[in-house]
Amino acid sequence: MWKSVQPAPPDSILGLTEEFKKDQNPQKVNLGVGVYKDEAGNTPVLRCVKAAEKILLNTQTTKSYLPISGDPAYADAVQRLIFGAGSEVISSGRAVTAHAPGGTGALRVGADLIHKFSPDAKVWVSSPTWANHNGIFGAAGAGFEITQYGYYDSESKGLDFDKMISDLEQVSTGDVVVLHACCHNPSGVDLHDEQWKQVAGLAAKKGWIPFLDFAYQGFGDGVDEDRYSVEQFAAAGIDFLVASSFSKNFGLYNERTGAITVVTPDESQAKVVMSHLKTIIRTNYSNPPAHGGMVATLILDTPELHKMWLEELAEMRNRIVNMRKMLVAGLAAQGVEGDFSFIEKQRGMFSFSGWSDDVVSSLRKNNNIYVVGGGRINLAGLTTANIEYVSKAVADAMK
Ligand code: PMP
Repeated sequence: MWKSVQPAPPDSILGLTEEFKKDQNPQKVNLGVGVYKDEAGNTPVLRCVKAAEKILLNTQTTKSYLPISGDPAYADAVQRLIFGAGSEVISSGRAVTAHAPGGTGALRVGADLIHKFSPDAKVWVSSPTWANHNGIFGAAGAGFEITQYGYYDSESKGLDFDKMISDLEQVSTGDVVVLHACCHNPSGVDLHDEQWKQVAGLAAKKGWIPFLDFAYQGFGDGVDEDRYSVEQFAAAGIDFLVASSFSKNFGLYNERTGAITVVTPDESQAKVVMSHLKTIIRTNYSNPPAHGGMVATLILDTPELHKMWLEELAEMRNRIVNMRKMLVAGLAAQGVEGDFSFIEKQRGMFSFSGWSDDVVSSLRKNNNIYVVGGGRINLAGLTTANIEYVSKAVADAMK
């Protein structure tokens, strides 16, 4: 059967990590995959996660299946986090949440749901976007037609809001617009509060369906601040979806801990949506993996662990902010021409460095520094120990 089948291309980002692992040079630096690293270059298990796991080890009595949509306590904890505890979306019961395997699984379940009832909808993604958005929406059902709306302006290294709005004005009723709720991947460029308000107003006016990808809550300005975008769509009183993930903010990458939340006009419609989510999940992976969800729920529902988590999340966020500052200073100290202050303005784990393909390939070949094609860098791959090495390598590559 497979004789005449050509191999599929490797994933552009995860493939880079494989190359990095094989590299024997001790000075190698991975600025590729979106995984947090501490000052020692490790991706640690958070202390709050270890503490929750100890409790679970002593109290867990079964490994029996979870319900199809996951533990209801997990769904409640997710909703409080993404909407805020006092949100009308929660008290009205007009949203339903299913535990999904990571943010990726959540996006796919949401895409399958939309495809089931609206297969001809067009899906709009930002230019650029996380590459897997195209993969996921292309794979759901018979595959959506995917098109781009303007977002990043390579001249200003910031947001092209006028283009974004004029493109979103063209979106038809019932089409789906994928938006990064905070910490845009790959650019690190986010909307301001007023701009989010405007986009939510436009969604309400035009009747398109926002699908928020919320993979980095807490990596922008903080857990509460980063949900501002979500709050604007909730306030607009429209249908929307949120794919959230605990991979990054709890460091639960390999536990596949995410959630799909569908916000509807009222509780009865929400119940209908849940029945279809369950059908989609049952025929795909049947029910979610339990461990990560149990850990996250315990942390979110236990005040001391919750506090510990917020502190650890702030540590991660502040370290990345510090690396942004140090990189800008490091490049200036090495005499690299140009204004790199935009790196400090961008938020979350990533920055579009503006480095050309030649620079990216020179860094790889001559300095064992791994950067995704297009120049996206993961700031968390930098440490005080390697920042001078990286800055000098960039200076050399740009000569
Ligand atoms: N959306 C975006 C924008 C991401 O960057 C990622 C992770 N790289 C995801 C979703 C998926 O996260 P997860 O690992 O939880 O599937």
